[in-house]
Amino acid sequence: MPLELAEVERPSVGVGQVLLRVRACGVCRTDLHVVDGELIHPKLPLVPGHQIVGEADDGRRLGVPWLAWTCGACRYCQSGRENLCERARFTGYDVDGGYAEWAVADERFCFPLPDGYEDLDAAPLLCAGLIGYRSLRFTGDAERLGLYGFGTAAHIIAQVALWQGRRLFAVTREGDDEAQSFAHSLGAEWAGSGAPPEELDAAIIFAPSGELVPAALAAVSKGGTVVCAGIHMSDIPRFAYELLWGERSVRSVANLTRADGEEFLALAPQVPIRTTVESFALEQANEALAMLRSGNVRGALVLRP
Ligand SMILES: [Zn+2]
Ligand SMILES: [Zn+2]
Repeated sequence: MPLELAEVERPSVGVGQVLLRVRACGVCRTDLHVVDGELIHPKLPLVPGHQIVGEADDGRRLGVPWLAWTCGACRYCQSGRENLCERARFTGYDVDGGYAEWAVADERFCFPLPDGYEDLDAAPLLCAGLIGYRSLRFTGDAERLGLYGFGTAAHIIAQVALWQGRRLFAVTREGDDEAQSFAHSLGAEWAGSGAPPEELDAAIIFAPSGELVPAALAAVSKGGTVVCAGIHMSDIPRFAYELLWGERSVRSVANLTRADGEEFLALAPQVPIRTTVESFALEQANEALAMLRSGNVRGALVLRP
């Protein structure tokens, strides 16, 4: 269902929360999964958006990510895995997000943002960057890294991977010359569709297409890992055990921890990561989502209220 523009009350601020004037909010594929009904338990009505750059009353600039709240008490929270919290709430899904002029957030889950980034440029770091970075960590010390789907997250993580000294291979949809040249411009040594020209040590799948799982498994060497970075993916087709044999593994990445955020946002200015951003007025949120759905995006889309 398309989003509707509405005048709503400025959100009230609860204990431990901070009121933010939204200065930018990144558009994420997860927003599309919510709007398209592929993630099926959103709060309704809902303000989507979980890559919020906002300004607090006292002038501090804070970033609000997908992880809005965790219980602190469950076995996941107690073991440093709050990303898996049984009772986690998510921004722009369980609680209202940043496709708005104002937002409230639990201050304990907000991040101070590094200097040197404009508001629009910082927004995509908050999910595409952060969850991309968590995905990258799960590839260990893989030297030859394949990125499947060269969208928002890949354009950020490519920069980190190269800075870490890895070699980069970008797998795009067939005939997507623009994505391929974008990947080349960011330093990929190969960009194309189909199988990369040599074995990979690990792959990250950013595109929500299950058929990429056996394709990526076929491309990684023995002991290699295939990381599925998205929150939603179409069904994975059956594949022969032989593809997994040789200690290859497939894993998903779910959400983020606050430690991920702190680590990644400290790293971003060191690389330094530069985001490529196209901005839309808040009123154009549906157009931005349609553009993301079409796949014709170079870098990141960001709304400005
Ligand atoms: Zn996201
Ligand atoms: Zn918990």
